[in-house]
Amino acid sequence: MTIKYLDQMDVSGKRVLIRVDYNVPYDKNMKITDDTRITATIDTLNYCIERGAKVILVSHLGRPDGKVVPGMSLKPVAEKLSELMKKKILFIDAEPGDKAKAMSDTMMNGDIALLENIRFYPGEEKNDDAFGKKLALLADVYINDAFATAHRGHASNDAITKYVKDCGAGFLMKNEIEYFKKAMDNPARPMGAIIGGAKVSSKLGILKNIIGKVDFIIIGGGMAFTFYKAMGLNTGKSLMEKDLVKEAGEILRQAKISGIEILLPVDVVVASEFKDDSPKSIIPFDKIPDDKIGLDIGPESIKQFSDKIKNSKTIVWNGPMGAFEMPNFSIGTNSIAMAVAESECLSIVGGGDSVTAINQLGISDKMSYISTAGGAFLELLEGKILPAVKALDK
Ligand code: AMP
Repeated sequence: MTIKYLDQMDVSGKRVLIRVDYNVPYDKNMKITDDTRITATIDTLNYCIERGAKVILVSHLGRPDGKVVPGMSLKPVAEKLSELMKKKILFIDAEPGDKAKAMSDTMMNGDIALLENIRFYPGEEKNDDAFGKKLALLADVYINDAFATAHRGHASNDAITKYVKDCGAGFLMKNEIEYFKKAMDNPARPMGAIIGGAKVSSKLGILKNIIGKVDFIIIGGGMAFTFYKAMGLNTGKSLMEKDLVKEAGEILRQAKISGIEILLPVDVVVASEFKDDSPKSIIPFDKIPDDKIGLDIGPESIKQFSDKIKNSKTIVWNGPMGAFEMPNFSIGTNSIAMAVAESECLSIVGGGDSVTAINQLGISDKMSYISTAGGAFLELLEGKILPAVKALDK
């Protein structure tokens, strides 16, 4: 795959259309509550405007389903961006086409414009060719810097690339692609994956893909119980997917054949109810009583997993070790986060919950790379080629 990156492209004096991900959270007064996704693009924006490019930004916000929904306008984002960049942002509230082009024609070198929510227009999510062509009217150069939407093939990250000759990836996208390559294509070893979360079903594709790549897999969270079941153990009232027991057993078998070590928790924190104040106890993994739910990994598992992590050179992590939203069952996830932070390995973390845990602990700067994406990160781990990345490969 050959993808051009922004720093290899000539943007001087050109109209550079950048697909960004400004799908930011906001409150009922349309006040943005977290501007991380906007600030994350500033390097890409500065690089372009310092070279006298006219920057036209395209993003979606929420799910308006091809209709104009005033409560999902990107206008407040334009205002926030103006504040952050300390310059005026032209807000183009016309549908891509001649009128939007006429508005963008008023821009001077170094100016920035933001288009209205691209999902207001039905052509976007349909990856409509004609719509992509209209968007391309605004661009001499196309840059995609929205990794979080890269697993979707939409007009603003796929169809448009057919109509702009010069296409490439911005700095955020570059980081995602490069770190991922470093971790998965030619990793420093030992290399391990920590996979947690509620269900085996949502992580099955990942487990099947990484089994041929990693040296070990740590499995925690609710999904561990389906593996215990496959080992013929009792799982009490814990989360367990009956119809995936066979698949879990097959993964254990495959790992054994390939010499991949699978580490499952050796002790479990159990309670009678799925409640933070439900009294908890620690029991061995093979002694879960019928009336108990396993909600976190126990101290001996924490120790074993942490030792393994500390002796690794590369770690990829997705998913919590327990029902970590409840403080009484968050110790496992937090301890594993600390072990990754303290390890000197190349650490790549992705997925909402693992990232939330890291942010809550204030240790995000201790990770080598935190992916900005949920779905796209998971699909990369599943070994899929993301449509928007493929579209940049010319
Ligand atoms: P996922 O989106 O698949 O990564 O799952 C994340 C969710 O799994 C979080 O909301 C956790 O609370 C939940 N989870 C993790 N471990 C357990 C467990 N042992 N029992 C129930 N839910 C769990």
